[in-house]
Amino acid sequence: MTVRVRFAPSPTGMFHVGGARSALQNWIYAKQQGGVFVLRIEDTDAARNKPEWTEGILSALDWIGISRGSYEGPYFQSANAGEHRAAATRLYESGRAYYCDCTREDVQARTGSQYQGYDGYHRDLGLGPGPGHALRFRTPDEGLTVVVDLIRGEPTFENKLIEDFVIARGDGSPVFLLANVVDDMTMGITHVIRAEEHLPNTPKQQLLWDALGVKPPVWAHVPVVVNEKRQKLSKRRDKVALEAYRDEGYLAGAMRNYLMLLGWAPSGDREIVPWSVIEDEFRLEEVNPSPAFFDEKKLRAFNGEYIRALPVSEFVDACQPWLTGTGTIAPPPWQPEEFDADAFAAVAPLAQTRLAVLSEIVPNVDFLFLASPLIDEAAWTKTMKDGSADLLDAAIAAFEALEPWDAESLKSTLEAVGAERGLKLGKTQAPVRVAVTGRTVGLPLFESLEVLGRERTLTRMRAARLRLV
Ligand code: GLU
Repeated sequence: MTVRVRFAPSPTGMFHVGGARSALQNWIYAKQQGGVFVLRIEDTDAARNKPEWTEGILSALDWIGISRGSYEGPYFQSANAGEHRAAATRLYESGRAYYCDCTREDVQARTGSQYQGYDGYHRDLGLGPGPGHALRFRTPDEGLTVVVDLIRGEPTFENKLIEDFVIARGDGSPVFLLANVVDDMTMGITHVIRAEEHLPNTPKQQLLWDALGVKPPVWAHVPVVVNEKRQKLSKRRDKVALEAYRDEGYLAGAMRNYLMLLGWAPSGDREIVPWSVIEDEFRLEEVNPSPAFFDEKKLRAFNGEYIRALPVSEFVDACQPWLTGTGTIAPPPWQPEEFDADAFAAVAPLAQTRLAVLSEIVPNVDFLFLASPLIDEAAWTKTMKDGSADLLDAAIAAFEALEPWDAESLKSTLEAVGAERGLKLGKTQAPVRVAVTGRTVGLPLFESLEVLGRERTLTRMRAARLRLV
């Protein structure tokens, strides 16, 4: 039997990191089993779907390494509407489903409770199809539904506690529960690996598989992803869009490595490992069923390590979208013609060791390309104290005569200026840094000044000095 898995997102919003995690797990499982990965876009909720969300899913998958053309699909659930309706009809005709026109209020009035599920009122009333008649599945009165789940063992559900659930609405359109099963069936899916949130649907869906006469798939419900307060990641509260991480400058390699650690870890004490190790060692059966904490701080640290591991030339290439502003990434504060690729290449190795995310490249190097630095006023006030004017005067005089203009000479010169005033290098360089870069933190100062050049450095120091009059 060829293993066939599927990833079945609904295109109703940005692509959720939890979805990306499930996609990767499906992807690796298929690869390990010599199986097939199918992409199915569940686009039947016409009111909430937008074509751009579908494109977002495809490009986000591409970004984390599930590239277009290397999987089966994408299929669109809406294209299968005929099959869904046919299955609903089959279930009705075989007596496994019946029509019902009760409103919620009707059920409440009969049961006396707003919490009670459907009470089976129409089970044997023989109502036929018609406008406003929903089709309900007749769940067995007794017995157990045992779900075989690679991660959770055998969650078992009592059939009598499963209400006769709706499979097609009053307008005849099949609901998600049925459409999803019919698609899995038609696409020959053997393993359904999906988020834990769907586990309550699973006994109902398995009953549908049985009723339609097809052996149900093996299930694997991967853990819910939570924030630091142990709340399920929500798109209203948390940063959940994979695209947001991409645009902030997370590397795809770091991201997918981190996502795979949600509920699983490679052997030894390792967390940062080559993708090939994950592909080799990942075992779906070993995924921890407890909620998985999505720790953005840890992801940042991971990403920094991935950035530092890049060859410099790749780091330079990887920074380009932020240096030019492409796609959904905002343009940098300088004009394109102000950018100087050689100057950037000269400081790139210094920046590479300092970034957690690639977007941080911009505030680190903007001083090199802007005609005058963007002064952070809070930093200015904190740094420019009594004595700063005198210090800048002395530094300007010393730098005017400095030969050669290189980091080492700049450092020893400024050190001497500070020493004459009883100041350590840190205190001496702070006003110079703010004058030249506009900030209190950034790349190593003397290398930065070397690349910026004498004239531009002195112009900025003189401008700062004038402000201090
Ligand atoms: N379309 C469903 C969702 O995005 C997926 C259902 C499934 O994986 O079975 O939650």
